[in-house]
This record gives sequence, C-alpha cells and structure tokens, in this order.
Amino acid sequence: MTMIEISNLTKRYHGVPAVDALSLSVEAGEIVGLLGPNGAGKSTTILMATGLIEPDEGIIRISGHDMAQEPKQAKKEIGYMPEDVGFYPQLTARENLDFFGRLYEMKENIRHERIEELLAIVGLGSVETLIGGYSKGMRQRLGLAKALLNNPPVIILDEPTANLDPIGVADYRRIIRQAASEGAAILVSSHILSEMNVLCSRIALLSRGKLVADGTWEDIARCGGEVTIKVEGRTTLPEFSDPAIQSVTYTQNRQTAIIRASHDIRDEISDILADAGVLIRTLQIDAESSEEALLARFREGAAA
Ligand code: ADP
Repeated sequence: MTMIEISNLTKRYHGVPAVDALSLSVEAGEIVGLLGPNGAGKSTTILMATGLIEPDEGIIRISGHDMAQEPKQAKKEIGYMPEDVGFYPQLTARENLDFFGRLYEMKENIRHERIEELLAIVGLGSVETLIGGYSKGMRQRLGLAKALLNNPPVIILDEPTANLDPIGVADYRRIIRQAASEGAAILVSSHILSEMNVLCSRIALLSRGKLVADGTWEDIARCGGEVTIKVEGRTTLPEFSDPAIQSVTYTQNRQTAIIRASHDIRDEISDILADAGVLIRTLQIDAESSEEALLARFREGAAA
C-alpha cells in the first residue's frame, strides 16, 4: 500500500526551484532514503511532505489523504522528527513526551505505557535530567521517541543521526527497522551515504531539486557508470575477457579478482565462470566502489 505519494511537487524561492517536479512514493514497510548534497532540496521536500510549508505545484497524499484538501487527517498519520526538535527545557523527557501524547489525544494509560516503552527503547528510561541539560545526541534520541509516540503509519525523519554516537546510531537503526517491519512507511533524509546504504531499501537521489535516481543502492551505483565487481571462486579463476572490462586484479592465489568495468557485467562474468567450470563463492558489486560512483554523481549534481 502506498503511504506517501508525492507527485510533481515544485517549490520555488524567488523564482528559483528548490524542489522541481519531484515524484516519489513510499510503500508500507519500506525505508526510503532521501539523499543529496546540501541545498539539493531535501528539507524543503520534507517540510512539504509533513504539511509545514505549501508547495507551489503538485500533490502530497499521506495514507490516501490529500495534504492540501485534508491536512488534519494527513498530518495525523505522520510521526515527524525535524533536524532540530523543539522540547520544553524545563521539563524532563517523560514530561515532554507526555505533553505531546496529550496533544495527540492518546488515552492516559496507553500514553504512559508507550512513553515508558519508548524511553527504554531510546535508552533514556533512567534519565531524570531536565531537557535543558541534555546533549544534542540525547535530544535526538528523544526526538525519535517523539516521532514514534502515537505509533504513526508514516514516519518522516530529517537528518536523524547527525548528533548520534555509534551506539545511538545502532539503536536508531534497530528502532527504524522494527517500525518498518511492523508496516510503517519511512522516509529519511541524509547526506551520509554509508548510513543510507546500511538502512534503506531504496534511495531517492536529489540534485538541485530534481530526482536524478530512484532505486536500490546498487541500481544507483550502476547507473553512475563504472563499477567494481568482486569475484571469488572456489578454485583458480580463468582469464576474463569482455569489451566492458577495464582492468582485472587477481589476489588470493588467483581465487579472487577485482574487475573494473564500464557497466555491470556480472551476468557475463557468471557465464565465463560457468564455461571454465569454476564454482562461484562471491560475485558482487563492491560496496565501496558503489559509494565512490555515487559520490561522483553527487559531485556532478553539486557542481552542475
Ligand atoms: P537540503 O535540505 O538538501 O540541504 P534545502 O531544501 O534546505 O536543501 O534547500 C534547497 C534550496 O532552496 C537551497 O538552494 C536553499 O538555499 C533554498 N531555500 C530553502 N529554504 C529557503 C527559504 N526559506 N528561502 C529561500 N531559499 C530557500
């Protein structure tokens, strides 16, 4: 089921499009990463998707509710975590969440139970400090708890890991994966490539307000041009010959090869291995080189 449907969305500032005819959808259970360099239009997209600013053109539907026609119903479906979450500094985490729970009209017993559960999940269960004394990372953990408070079917997060330490990042990933496995549709923005690679089932790459790629990590890396393919055989590897191959480096007594090619030729390599009677242990696009290819596209987008 499509939970977030963005179609032909445009927002201009002083005549210049910050978001330009963007169409994107997120299904229930999906984690989609909105990726792009600074200024690409990620925040503007998220502000429109959450109904905080109005688009000049285009339609946003959240669980089927049109944001322009039924803003109340649409917004009710969303758990949102902005880049900088506003909390009351003179209250504790528990008191802040309670405030938002009342705002969401959650019943008292359900509210209390959910707050305790979430505080434990984000690792703030035993903290009684007032928010004013929180570190940025603690605020971000609490922001995540707030976004999940009323079990929303749609979760939208703006740069959620910016202030988290490695443990915070691991907790965050676990929480988001859990929410997706329970059927939530998740849209998360970031400019951190490796974060997207680990967490997202699909990546939407924005450049100058336009969607320049939408697919899995590998899809995006592939259309970036050159790829590096890692091959591991159970026995010695044969010679690889294909017009797309630029270089082959053998290691591990010739049982491993790193092949640089102008495009994805894993099918051709698989045929060569089959003809040579070599069983395959690994045949994959090298993740690090995928990141390089994506970075190259990033730079193109930033410099264009
Ligand atoms: P990102 O979140 O990817 O860094 P933004 O959505 O913040 O990108 O910005 C996209 C473009 O729109 C940038 O060029 C930015 O300067 C411009 N922009 C964003 N918000 C405003 C605003 N309120 N007024 C004028 N220009 C804006």
